[in-house]
Amino acid sequence: ETMINQIAAGEVIERPASVVKELVENALDAGASKVEVVTSGGGLNLIRVTDDGFGIPERELALAIARHCTSKLTEDINDIRSLGFRGEALPSIGSVSRLSIRSRTASSDSAAEIGIEGGRVLPIKPAAANRGTTVEVRDLFFATPARLKFMKGERAESSAISDIVKRIAIAFPTVRFTLAGSDRTTLELPATDDSADGSLRRVAQVMGADFPDNSIAIDAMREGVHLTGHVSIPSFTRANALQQYAYVNGRPVRDKLIAGAIRGAFADVLPRDRHAVTVLFLSLDPAIVDVNVHPAKADVRFRDPGLVRGLIVGAIRQALADAGI
Ligand code: ADP
Ligand code: MG
Repeated sequence: ETMINQIAAGEVIERPASVVKELVENALDAGASKVEVVTSGGGLNLIRVTDDGFGIPERELALAIARHCTSKLTEDINDIRSLGFRGEALPSIGSVSRLSIRSRTASSDSAAEIGIEGGRVLPIKPAAANRGTTVEVRDLFFATPARLKFMKGERAESSAISDIVKRIAIAFPTVRFTLAGSDRTTLELPATDDSADGSLRRVAQVMGADFPDNSIAIDAMREGVHLTGHVSIPSFTRANALQQYAYVNGRPVRDKLIAGAIRGAFADVLPRDRHAVTVLFLSLDPAIVDVNVHPAKADVRFRDPGLVRGLIVGAIRQALADAGI
């Protein structure tokens, strides 16, 4: 069982940032309004995610770290509202690290804690905590030294963690996020609101206060696919594509087709070595897109890639033209 979980961990948990992604998604699935992330040593020594969500009842703590146990599965795989649904993350992480979960539900007057170290489950014990859940992951990959060797060093891992928190935070403007660590990559993103303005304020928190004034709004629709967001004007560029954020039905994605479409749209107005800053939200019928290609869930597969590419290229070019660029 530990072996199976370690193999799964090899798929889902590539690096500390993958752990942060899974734990933050769990916090959001639990309806958290505040998510606090603390790391040290680029996440290899410590990752701690605390939320104020609905918590896990003591009798379900053991299930949370059991393989393929999820409280989130609905009948219809196309109607997955929660970010997680495989029941794979916690047992995988617990098979390669020292993981503890401390949780308290609203109806309970005390918290409980369970641990799992390199796949070995520790007994449940009472704990003190407010409503919500704290998941702590120490010594990531201590149980799989080969994997540990592939890590890029504290600074690279820290910036990957910061990147993933930013990516997720843009999709959840009503949630307060903080990221603290021994490193300089700290974040404090106060909650805004669900309106277009609130969403743009969250974008500004993440991309910098000067982004909105240096961007143009995108809002276009083609055959039921809706594209909204902002792209920077050609004088506001970056040397890499890290500040290109894309979402499909509210999920952060990293997708070659979207990245290529952005490049194509800006090809005539940007030098090859400069990149636009973009935040784009695609919303479409879940039946015509698969966001679950890989367990790490960052890839997407569109049924009609040409339609999506055409929509993005067309909308950005049109918006640039309308702005006289
Ligand atoms: P999944 O998210 O795919 O269901 P996970 O392994 O990430 O699988 O989590 C297993 C289960 O543990 C979840 O289905 C949920 O019931 C519970 N859980 C994990 N993290 C939290 C949290 N922060 N708050 C409440 N419940 C949680
Ligand atoms: Mg999960």
